[in-house]
Amino acid sequence: MPSSAQRDEAQSSYAASETAQPTATSETDAFQQAILAKLTYDVGTNPAHATDHDWFTATALAVRDRAMDRWMVSKGLNQSVHKHVCYFSLEFLIGRLLSDTLNNLRLTDCARDALAGLGVDLDRIRTMEPDAALGNGGLGRLAACFMESMASLEVPAYGYGIRYEHGLFRQGLSDGWQQELPEDWLVRGNPWEFERSDLVYQVPFGGFVEELAASDGPARSVWKPAETVQAVAFDTPVVGWRGRHVNTLRLWSARAAEPLRLDAFNSGDHVGALADRTRAEAISRVLYPGDETEAGRELRLRQEFFFTSASLQDLLARHTRLHGDLQALPEHAAIQLNDTHPALAVAELMRLLVDERHLSWDEAWAITTRTLNYTNHTLMPEALERWPVSLMERLLPRHLQIIYHINWLHLEPLIRRSADVELIKSVSVIDEDQGRYVRMGHLAFIGAHKVNGVSALHTGLMRQTVFRDLNALYPGRIVNKTNGITFRRWLHQANPQLTQILTQELGEAVLDDPGALIRLERLADDGAFQERFRNQRHAAKVNLARIVAERTGVQIDPNALFDVHIKRIHEYKRQLLNILEAVALYDAMRSEPERNWVPRVKIFAGKAAASYHRAKLIIKLANDVARVINSDPAIAGRLKVVFLPNYNVSLAEAIIPAADLSEQISTAGMEASGTGNMKLALNGALTIGTLDGANIEIRECVGDDNIFIFGMTAEEVGAYHKAGLHRDRAGWSPRFERAINLITAGTFSPDDPRRFDSLAHALSSDDTFMVAADFDSYWATQRRVDELWQDPFAWSRASVLNTSRVGWFSADRTIREYAEEIWKISV
Ligand SMILES: *Cc1c(COP(=O)(O)O)cnc(C)c1O
Repeated sequence: MPSSAQRDEAQSSYAASETAQPTATSETDAFQQAILAKLTYDVGTNPAHATDHDWFTATALAVRDRAMDRWMVSKGLNQSVHKHVCYFSLEFLIGRLLSDTLNNLRLTDCARDALAGLGVDLDRIRTMEPDAALGNGGLGRLAACFMESMASLEVPAYGYGIRYEHGLFRQGLSDGWQQELPEDWLVRGNPWEFERSDLVYQVPFGGFVEELAASDGPARSVWKPAETVQAVAFDTPVVGWRGRHVNTLRLWSARAAEPLRLDAFNSGDHVGALADRTRAEAISRVLYPGDETEAGRELRLRQEFFFTSASLQDLLARHTRLHGDLQALPEHAAIQLNDTHPALAVAELMRLLVDERHLSWDEAWAITTRTLNYTNHTLMPEALERWPVSLMERLLPRHLQIIYHINWLHLEPLIRRSADVELIKSVSVIDEDQGRYVRMGHLAFIGAHKVNGVSALHTGLMRQTVFRDLNALYPGRIVNKTNGITFRRWLHQANPQLTQILTQELGEAVLDDPGALIRLERLADDGAFQERFRNQRHAAKVNLARIVAERTGVQIDPNALFDVHIKRIHEYKRQLLNILEAVALYDAMRSEPERNWVPRVKIFAGKAAASYHRAKLIIKLANDVARVINSDPAIAGRLKVVFLPNYNVSLAEAIIPAADLSEQISTAGMEASGTGNMKLALNGALTIGTLDGANIEIRECVGDDNIFIFGMTAEEVGAYHKAGLHRDRAGWSPRFERAINLITAGTFSPDDPRRFDSLAHALSSDDTFMVAADFDSYWATQRRVDELWQDPFAWSRASVLNTSRVGWFSADRTIREYAEEIWKISV
């Protein structure tokens, strides 16, 4: 913790700059001058010739300047006696930074006025910024929310990851099929980052290990790597709320140790001369586009070791420079491993301490296990990371030795007391069932001080399933930290209209304290307030309808119920269940056209992993179903289906304020937490969902009457699987059967009637995800949704209560819990 003197020092320089602040208009003038100077001297153009992108760059650079002084002060704090967090994550799904940074610096109005004076519209130029899409989905977005929240709570922190040249692919649709298009967010430069070309670490790979006999002690192992890749640091300031504190996101870019083999080049081999460079730099070339499935490729392992090693070397260098004594590392740093992707940190920290700093094994192990912590994000077997021993041996021979030794010391007490062989197999870091693999989750568990799940249900299941035996060996190590989201981005910035209502009713304090939202409850039944609330929602829906028309050509009615299902496309997230409900509803509307159907628009968005064929087929099905339903005059536009392409943070920010219904319908037990569910509830959408992940805690907060829960529980899903009922289509309801038959009859794919047979067949032979089993319950619950929608007062009441009761899901609450229980940093 900062000593009070240090804190005072930091605060007083902050205060000094604050008192020196000029009046509003001269502040705008000054900011305008700053933008013009950036435009001329950094971008190299002038107002007469500047493009929107030039204005964006100039504005971003001017904003960045405003964060610099605070960044330097914060760095001082981070580097002095305090303990700081190192958040290791292979993914940071950041999105755009201009609005976020302007908002946190309270400069939005100033920038808007300054630009308007130059004839430039802030809202137009902010769309020039490409999304920083260095992540696939929830895991990467969590890392981004945590970075913002740590800065806002003044928790000193570094985020560590990879500066991918190409982030997550852009999704195009070609005749309803997903196309993966390359993403190139850096081609026009990145105004937020600083290249630290002098901050470089060597990351070794391959080769062999030599045992050196020492005359005065045990033999030493010396790794003789075959190859070395350089990691170059790129720093981005992460500005916290009200600009009080600025942390650093440090991303590594790979560079060849030797840029060019000049001998080869001179002898005419121009391509071969660059081969080593291409191989080295491939490491930070592109983000792996897999979500919830293990990548299992050598380049991925190289990425994981590359950023883990560089980040640990950086931490040790900083620590040694500031404090000297390595034994004190756990008092000065807490490392959080975001999933197992950086789990090699356990072996790498041991190697750095034992081989390079010459600590004893026991000293090094004490430091390692007091510094590292591990967050688990999934229990699904296909997503649990494991690496073939043979690959590890070839790429990281010294680490494999260290892992074996860690495993030996971990298993030896069990072997000594003749423990059950099954128990030993289950807790071993090496999986020897079919081939030999290193289980990265086990490695992270054994090397960590605390291991956490991301919702109450998920943490409970961790204790009962994958980590049951490890939990018994290391009781108390597993703790729960239910995820959260940053309200600055997902409420204040994404939904300024709602935020304005909130500050008018609850005062500015609501911006600083999500707990203040609860005072909105008293207005839930107030008719006049409800109307303002509805008007604000209507404006957001008009805006979304415009986006839908622009991007899909489909006209949707802002008065219809907007039913939103936005997230990665995955069988366990059950977009298929939702599409089948659309088909059944379409079928029912056609057979009873005279009924008073609730007008509904089903909005889907999400990307599928490039190699996940079934998920891509589900996208095609959504588009085929959409085409037929949207063009059928028989249902008179009362049902529309749209698939918005290229889901990313910016699109999420546009959809979420306009959502009436939030689809959180994963098979119970399979979604670790979800965070999309929190964003939508905060913005007033009602959830239709299973008792899965954080939905359970959302229900506890908003109350049974303000959420639509359906389907089997995690326990029931387990029992159903055990009984083999998911392989039996005997229990299908007529309605479900009819929906399937419409699809397999080619109603939606007359050009290829067999197109979706594989989906239908999977449901009848092995319905792992309980689509058939949960369908009737889902259908009935959707009809309860219709009923409530027809009572605008009751719906708005529930909507207001959702916004007012989900303050607990602020990432600030989550970060406080990590700080107190895991990192031991007081906030
Ligand atoms: C929040 C978010 C996610 C995670 O959504 P879930 O519904 O929790 O799976 C994924 N992608 C983006 C762009 C997000 O903003």
